[in-house]
Amino acid sequence: MAAQYAENADDRPWAVAPFWQLERTERPRKLSADAKCDTVVVGAGATGLSTALALASRQKVIVVDAKRLAEGSSGWNAGILSLATTLDSSAVENSIGEERTRALSFFLQDSILQMKSTTGLQTPDWQTGSSLYTAARKSHIPLLKQEGEARHKYGLQTSFLQQGHLDKAKLGFCAALELSGEHAVHPAKLAVGMSSAVGRAGGQVCEDSPVDAWRHDGEKFLVSCNGNTIEAQNLVVCPGSGSALFREVTDAANFCIPVVSHILVTEPSDKIAEFVKETHRIAMWDSLRLYHYVRYLPSGRVLVGGEESPGVIPPTVLGADDPNIQRLYDWARRHHKVPLPPIEHCWKASLMLPADGLPFLQLRRFNESLLIGAITDGIPFAFVLGRVIAGLIEDLKHPLSEIFSRRRAMPADARLLSLLPSAPAIRKPALNLAFAAMRLGDLIS
Ligand SMILES: Cc1cc2nc3c(=O)[nH]c(=O)nc-3n(C[C@H](O)[C@H](O)[C@H](O)COP(=O)(O)OP(=O)(O)OC[C@H]3O[C@@H](n4cnc5c(N)ncnc54)[C@H](O)[C@@H]3O)c2cc1C
Repeated sequence: MAAQYAENADDRPWAVAPFWQLERTERPRKLSADAKCDTVVVGAGATGLSTALALASRQKVIVVDAKRLAEGSSGWNAGILSLATTLDSSAVENSIGEERTRALSFFLQDSILQMKSTTGLQTPDWQTGSSLYTAARKSHIPLLKQEGEARHKYGLQTSFLQQGHLDKAKLGFCAALELSGEHAVHPAKLAVGMSSAVGRAGGQVCEDSPVDAWRHDGEKFLVSCNGNTIEAQNLVVCPGSGSALFREVTDAANFCIPVVSHILVTEPSDKIAEFVKETHRIAMWDSLRLYHYVRYLPSGRVLVGGEESPGVIPPTVLGADDPNIQRLYDWARRHHKVPLPPIEHCWKASLMLPADGLPFLQLRRFNESLLIGAITDGIPFAFVLGRVIAGLIEDLKHPLSEIFSRRRAMPADARLLSLLPSAPAIRKPALNLAFAAMRLGDLIS
């Protein structure tokens, strides 16, 4: 039986980040009748949609989201699909070895390109070019060189730039890695494109459809949503920065620090537009302030992000006088010779930071059914997670499933995180401390 949809009578505005807003051509539809499917996916963010995309042509999939497309982190982010920020090749190689890093790097590159072709997004909604990983201190140069060598080993095009070869527009950096084959996207268009592709492949995406309970009756999952029940053999849970309802699936969340991140977008400038056209530069980030980055948009706007702090908040629009936004703007101004245009939009939103930088998959078997929880660290990993989850559902295996397993080998500090008590009165200050320690580590390195 197919899920039944109803036109949504409620015309509230679509709550993606102000700069990413767009007219939706299709009205959101919500689940309004009982339904049956092979796999129900909770969460229509990048992870849930990518899972549905990987499954929809081969089995019946229904995706349900409490809100509308891209109202979670997936619609409030900076849209940088950077292989380099996703994968610190030398660190990953140290923890999972060369062969697995090679597999991970292949799947990341392949999944980004596959998503570009699946969604059909083109310039300016999908930018392709290079990014700069800049060294703020001379002592960081060896780290950059080490990362450059590791990237070469995995076939990722990288050049080392001495100070004299840096963009004339960049100030205050002593060297940089120039990373080719980088991408960035309009996140709301990505979400809409992924959802349409799920529909074309035969799947269904239901918005305004919060899941409020679920159980397994011995044969199948019964998932309760909008007063209706979805019967499904498998349940995949991708609720982003948290849903208490799925605690038992996503206790991998205990290995993550939920953080709030800030973004500003400037007005367009002809000089920046020219710079993007000439250099195909997409982004830049700083080895000292790992939580600060710049994205250059083809329109000549500059997006600056960072100033992260621990916590979970609903996405929130900010004023340009917000102190975090002011700090970001000052940092970006210090590092550009070209004057930055005035700020036009700013906001903050939450994301999950896995302690060792790799995403998490958690799998439980209920007789013939699979219950899978997934937490990503960024959009490229969300694309890969979808393929891994589909592999597990179809064949009970995927070459990357162990790398993403909650049981993988993790550094001691990541393990320690999971041991923190879940009571918010203790866990919250302890997470603040863990985050401060991570930052301090970055500053003194
Ligand atoms: C400010 C900011 C900037 C960022 N910049 C980048 C960037 O440049 N590049 C990058 O790769 N990553 C970036 N990220 C991280 C990235 O956005 C996230 O890692 C990614 O979007 C998470 O996707 P997701 O599908 O796991 O979660 P989400 O996008 O949060 O989706 C989870 C969905 O689950 C739904 N849900 C939760 N509970 C229920 C329930 N009970 N029933 C039904 N639905 C439910 C929610 O409504 C939500 O839509 C950024 C994040 C932030 C906040």
